[in-house]
Amino acid sequence: MNRQDTQDRQGMGTRQVPEGDASKPGAPHQLVRVRHELRRRKLLVTSVESLTPRMRRIRFTSPDLADFNSPSPDDHIKLFFSQQDGAAAQPVMRDFTPRAFDNAGKSLTIDFAIHGSGPATEWAAGAQVGQLLEIGGPRGSTLVPDDFDWYLLIGDESALPAIGRRVEALRSGVPVTTVVAVANEDEKQTFTTRASWRPTWVVRGEPGEQDAELLRRALVGFTPPAGDGFVWIAGEGSIVREVRTYFVEERQHPSDWIKAAAYWHRGTDDGHGGPGTPA
Ligand SMILES: Cc1cc2nc3c(=O)[nH]c(=O)nc-3n(C[C@H](O)[C@H](O)[C@H](O)COP(=O)(O)OP(=O)(O)OC[C@H]3O[C@@H](n4cnc5c(N)ncnc54)[C@H](O)[C@@H]3O)c2cc1C
Repeated sequence: MNRQDTQDRQGMGTRQVPEGDASKPGAPHQLVRVRHELRRRKLLVTSVESLTPRMRRIRFTSPDLADFNSPSPDDHIKLFFSQQDGAAAQPVMRDFTPRAFDNAGKSLTIDFAIHGSGPATEWAAGAQVGQLLEIGGPRGSTLVPDDFDWYLLIGDESALPAIGRRVEALRSGVPVTTVVAVANEDEKQTFTTRASWRPTWVVRGEPGEQDAELLRRALVGFTPPAGDGFVWIAGEGSIVREVRTYFVEERQHPSDWIKAAAYWHRGTDDGHGGPGTPA
């Protein structure tokens, strides 16, 4: 594989690795993988807000956040939750998206989808100002260039923080369509953006196997704008796999311009098997 490490351009301890063919410098639409120095940070909860009935926005502060680095909207950090059964027990880890951060203000925001049971959702549902939480990462980022002619972002509630961050970050006027499955009308969100954003919400009740068919039905009606497009898919693993297959096989979308990641697996505790497991 023709991969090439280049100089530190994203800050201390960061390396860039082009994901495509590095023999074509300057070629458009190249996704670039960037590694970061891995650090753990201890954070203090400063506010807890219900963004929607099932989405909890929690803000943190820490002097450790002065050099926190997360250049890509779909970066993830590890959250460490201590277990009740004895001090010797290892904390459990879950992956979450840095929804927003501010180095000068030493703050970080994470949006938690509240979904029933599990260490992360239970912690978020009961979180209080003054509580502590340890995080690690991000370990790396995939930088998606803002040079595509259009963007299509697909997912469920767990993907909404990354989707919101990307919609907000895209350049002025670029067409971006989001197709997101949510439990009910109250779970729809709004984002402030310079891009030309067209949201489609798939209201489906509880997440289930029907999500793939519902998303697919919504996507059949999607007519891509002219030019090259980037498709991003995240959410429950089997749904992500089906939607990705649809784009590759039926819509014949170039697979280099699709990024798909399993954010969780139905019926499995922390079943994503690693950060954003490719679906
Ligand atoms: C790269 C990455 C970024 C992510 N960013 C976010 C984020 O910013 N916000 C966010 O809310 N989630 C995010 N997730 C998803 C989150 O990590 C998982 O949902 C995680 O399993 C939640 O942990 P838990 O302890 O609440 O539940 P677990 O203990 O992992 O699972 C308990 C049960 O709940 C089910 N379950 C897990 N997640 C969900 C869900 N979302 N909806 C319905 N059922 C579920 C499982 O199948 C299992 O049966 C991200 C995942 C990845 C890989």
